[in-house]
Amino acid sequence: MTSSVRKQEQVRRALERLSPFETSCTLCPRDCRVDRTRGAEGVCRTGRLAAVSHALLHFGEEPVISGRSGSGTVFFTGCNLKCLFCQNYQLSWLLEGGPVTDGELAAIMLDLQKKGAHNINLVSPSHVVLPVLRALRIALEEGLDIPLVWNSNGYDSVEVVQALEGIVDIYLPDLKYYSPALSKRYSAAPDYFAKASEAVREMALQRPALDLGGDGTARRGLVVRHLMLPGAVDDTLVLVKWIGENLSPYIGLSLMSQYHPCFRAPEEIQRGVSPEEYRRAADAALALGLDHLFLQPEPFRADEHLVPDFRKEKPFRWK
Ligand code: SF4
Repeated sequence: MTSSVRKQEQVRRALERLSPFETSCTLCPRDCRVDRTRGAEGVCRTGRLAAVSHALLHFGEEPVISGRSGSGTVFFTGCNLKCLFCQNYQLSWLLEGGPVTDGELAAIMLDLQKKGAHNINLVSPSHVVLPVLRALRIALEEGLDIPLVWNSNGYDSVEVVQALEGIVDIYLPDLKYYSPALSKRYSAAPDYFAKASEAVREMALQRPALDLGGDGTARRGLVVRHLMLPGAVDDTLVLVKWIGENLSPYIGLSLMSQYHPCFRAPEEIQRGVSPEEYRRAADAALALGLDHLFLQPEPFRADEHLVPDFRKEKPFRWK
């Protein structure tokens, strides 16, 4: 059996397992139990179809994801987490973007592959796992054979992650908060760490080592992302310690300094991360001795932020 045929079979099984969730949705830890076939009443405000804002070659992800040719990135509309400070708030909160049929989503993936993308990078896919799987069923039949990246906020259902075994090649989840008080305040999800850590453990079981191809891009593996928040370095240090104690040393960790206050960011996080905060966290991450640690430059000046504007045809200004 070729790997594509095997993947098609795994997609078929995942659809069989997860499709019943569609009429009483528990596809993520929000457990809204709404009928997705009848409307968009859950936290993610998404019905049966996915909606997409942009699909493009992304050059600003970690080097193992973007490579030289770019990561074939699909930005979905809606989100199951909705952080108050979300830099993609135009999509997550304001729902900008348009619905796509499963066939159109498959065509988007195939087009990105044709343009030379190293992978298909699904941004905020948790709430659209079913349309993604239905689109993949079509795209795999039509020749999609580049790695699939699950670029989620980490607030994933462990059952969904189990169903994705053998389908997702590279997991790229956030691990945003350890403290329930922080996740409650900024994301209305006091159980964030409880749920995300369970999902990330499952991802690590499936993909315990980051495997790079000859061109230096990832073929399989797990890269955990942590976006530092100003004033919350102690939370970051606990998370870094948890990663060291609970995940394999062969995964990747991406420690991000690029936080910039957006949307409804409360008063206490209306600033960037300080160089001192970032250095403390970077020292702790370095001490873990992971095979792959991605650090960003010193925290950005406010006028150098990386916040995309999805109202533009080209939302990013990469250097
Ligand atoms: S995927 Fe959407 S509707 Fe389903 S449980 Fe999560 S937030 Fe609610």
